[in-house]
Amino acid sequence: MNLVIFGPPGAGKGTQSKFIVEKYNMYQLSTGEYLRNEILKNTEIGKKISAVINSGSLVSDEIVSDLIEKAIANNNYKNRIIFDGYPRNLNQAKNLDNLLKKYKQKIDIVLKLSVSLETIKKRISERRSLEKRPDDNEEIAIKRYKTYEKTTEPVIEYYKNLNLLKVIDGERQIDQINKEISEIIDFI
Ligand code: AMP
Repeated sequence: MNLVIFGPPGAGKGTQSKFIVEKYNMYQLSTGEYLRNEILKNTEIGKKISAVINSGSLVSDEIVSDLIEKAIANNNYKNRIIFDGYPRNLNQAKNLDNLLKKYKQKIDIVLKLSVSLETIKKRISERRSLEKRPDDNEEIAIKRYKTYEKTTEPVIEYYKNLNLLKVIDGERQIDQINKEISEIIDFI
């Protein structure tokens, strides 16, 4: 099983992914984490993308596609990937389908965590003091939310039409969300 976890920044994608990884022995492919790592390691890619990430915009499709293809091609992760933060636009959604097809895999389910902007602002300000991400200040967080609404949210229609979408109320307690996700995965 491969799954996509979808939702605005601060919706709890990372938290829920970690829970799924432990319970179902899956591999979390967080493109945001991959990209932040490139910046920390000061690689060529890292140098190119740090200003983009810190402004709240999206990195180019090509850079992110190369990163995810490496994970999809890795036999250790075959059919056990959680795509966290990918796809972020329609082009990426189609690219993901093509890449998975190339490696004889598919997406089994798309979980969308639905959360209001008010909750997001609160969560991001809490996360800022814990993780110290430069793109977690309020102004950039709002920009990231707007990017999500404009570019990422439309991808939901694509998955709805493929009958892969499950919408989850992400405003509830973490363990209630865990429970609903487990029920959905156990049903597959
Ligand atoms: P995240 O940790 O998922 O919130 O991602 C942090 C930042 O990394 C985003 O605001 C983007 O700048 C960049 N990023 C992460 N995933 C993608 C993606 N799939 N496409 C383009 N940019 C991405």
